Amino acid sequence: MNKEFPSTITVDDTTLSLVVIRKTVKNINARLRDATLHVSVPLHTSHTTINAILPSLARRLIRRQRARQINSDDDALALAQRVAQRFPTPIEVTATSFSTAQRARWGSYSTRTHAIRLHAALRHMPPWVLEAVVAHELAHVVHPNHSPAFWSLLRTVCPNTERAEAFLAGVNWLARTWDDLPPVERAQLRQVADDDEGDS
Ligand SMILES: [Zn+2]
Repeated sequence: MNKEFPSTITVDDTTLSLVVIRKTVKNINARLRDATLHVSVPLHTSHTTINAILPSLARRLIRRQRARQINSDDDALALAQRVAQRFPTPIEVTATSFSTAQRARWGSYSTRTHAIRLHAALRHMPPWVLEAVVAHELAHVVHPNHSPAFWSLLRTVCPNTERAEAFLAGVNWLARTWDDLPPVERAQLRQVADDDEGDS
């Protein structure tokens, strides 16, 4: 830990742990992982300069992290009700909730309460993925299995089904594999992700 810099930083009522490392880099690089701000700084930049830049850096990354939560509860309900209307016999949806207790499955629908429970991670995924999960669960009201008739109905109400299945398979793969990947490969994956973000 570098004693030149404080160990926490507070901006907009959010306190982050701060880890600053001096490195042979040209520019100040910052990354927010959960509640820790990791910053690498050039060897010879004065710590006054760095301390001056840290709050705006932290603020920008906090905003970006929040923006990643793209599906709110209200949006999810509206989306689910739209999807439900596309079924040959529309299905009633009265509530949706994102649940952190929902671990093993991406979603579930109760025919008793007409409520859809969704895996909390879906809040951060593209809306078309959320839509496909909702459609999948609702299609089970008609077909309780994964028969050809189920898939055919699902594709009708949600043309993005295949793409979403592939997306979620990738998420599953990464979640299963992440901890076992060598750190250098994890760093490479983050690099790809960051570049990708720049492109979009
Ligand atoms: Zn299913």
